[in-house]
Amino acid sequence: MAKPRYYFTGESQKADLDFANLGFDYIRCPYRFEAVCEHGVWRVRGLLEDSAMNLPEGSQCLHYGQQLFEGMKVYTGADGKAYAFRPYDNARRMAEGARYLKGPEVPEELFVRGVEEAAAANLPFIPPHGSGASLYLRPFYLGVDDNVGVKPARRYIFRVFVTPVGPYFKGGFGPDQGKSFMVTSFDRAAPRGTGHVKAGGNYASSFHPCFEAKKKGFDEALYLDPAEHKYIDEIGAANFLALKGDTLITPDSHSVLPSLTRMSLLEIASQLLGWSTEERQIPLEELDEVDATACCGTAAILTWIRRIVDGDREWTFEFDDRWQQLHDSLVGIQTGAADDPFGWRHEIPLD
Ligand SMILES: *Cc1c(COP(=O)(O)O)cnc(C)c1O
Repeated sequence: MAKPRYYFTGESQKADLDFANLGFDYIRCPYRFEAVCEHGVWRVRGLLEDSAMNLPEGSQCLHYGQQLFEGMKVYTGADGKAYAFRPYDNARRMAEGARYLKGPEVPEELFVRGVEEAAAANLPFIPPHGSGASLYLRPFYLGVDDNVGVKPARRYIFRVFVTPVGPYFKGGFGPDQGKSFMVTSFDRAAPRGTGHVKAGGNYASSFHPCFEAKKKGFDEALYLDPAEHKYIDEIGAANFLALKGDTLITPDSHSVLPSLTRMSLLEIASQLLGWSTEERQIPLEELDEVDATACCGTAAILTWIRRIVDGDREWTFEFDDRWQQLHDSLVGIQTGAADDPFGWRHEIPLD
């Protein structure tokens, strides 16, 4: 764990960190936001200094994976303000997850308050505009109880911690930064299981396939649909995109996590750039016919794919300028460098 630093340099009022060269690692920040739900009533505990949590040993989140998380980024705009991106959509996704895991929803207003307070309280750790870095927010939800049976908890914790991050894939975005992925024979989720829910358990089951892919020199594993192993699902914790002719295509699958980055890119493509878009099943073989491939997510933003390998089959792709257009349009909106015609930017109140 990186050493926490609570002292600030010069007039910038920023933490003494090399913001331009951050990786995607945990750096402990001073404050986290917490709320607790008992008997269906949420009570705000507010900002806490302790990064450790004290949980009952029988907690469902520890034994049965009754847990949810979100990943979001806050950027400093050119105007010096801090912006989150579509936080109400993250709130809705967590609420849908809570319904599936049979716990109480975190009310949208509480979720967004947690995001705002956690970001604002750690202002010195929000990377400056132009550094390429952002403040990553991790809202999460835990079922906690003195319990041993397989059933939902009676008590819940909603917490938001933050950490400043650089690019998820080393090197970030650029024509020389294509990544390579290995089609795995394993699944991260069941065909009618919880792949569409951002629940912790899905990620423990991705460690093995990811490890195998990395051992062979790839950046991550590419998952096929778990029912037939025929169609492309997604890559690690990022959704898949391809350009075929003048159409942006992306998989339609129940086991794929519905990425807000993907939703945003599809809207940018169709409404700002005038491209055609399709959400449909993409057979792995169709890679023979596509022009370019990429993956996307809050952490990965948009990352283009140079190479996909499935056993002795291999596909290679070139950088496509349209990825640059998509990337710049999205990041422009997120960082406040461009207009925000969709109203996606959410200003964090800083006082
Ligand atoms: C979080 C996540 C994504 C990306 O979703 P965003 O909303 O764009 O951050 C994609 N796939 C998986 C499996 C994820 O967990």
